[in-house]
Amino acid sequence: MKPRSLGVERLPQTKTYQCLSCDSVAHHKGLCRSCTQYDESGTVLKPVQRTRLNADGSVWEVPDNRIRPAAVTVDTLRAHRKAQKKLSKKQRAKAKAQQKAMADAMKKEMEAKVAIETQEDGSVLIGESEEE
Ligand SMILES: [Zn+2]
Repeated sequence: MKPRSLGVERLPQTKTYQCLSCDSVAHHKGLCRSCTQYDESGTVLKPVQRTRLNADGSVWEVPDNRIRPAAVTVDTLRAHRKAQKKLSKKQRAKAKAQQKAMADAMKKEMEAKVAIETQEDGSVLIGESEEE
């Protein structure tokens, strides 16, 4: 289905290929017919490939964005370390205080749980004894 309501007719992205030998331009990849040498039977003797061009006319090159996962990991770690280094003393103290507060809260919660199970005489009640 083609969207018709857009009203904007988008031109298909035409790729441009130019023979760097004779400067002839084509919109498809392949051999330049005037530069490629054939023998009498039509077999290619010396193929001359057209070179893909960018919209601005410069030679298009395969984008080098195939980053290996390992490289990403290293970069990520490096960025992470950098970000940590950027923390000011105040920020570090705050982060530390938050961690301590959390640890304290957990400790208190555990102590509270123990307190509930602790009898007045100090013995800890573990479940209910069925043997009387
Ligand atoms: Zn050519």
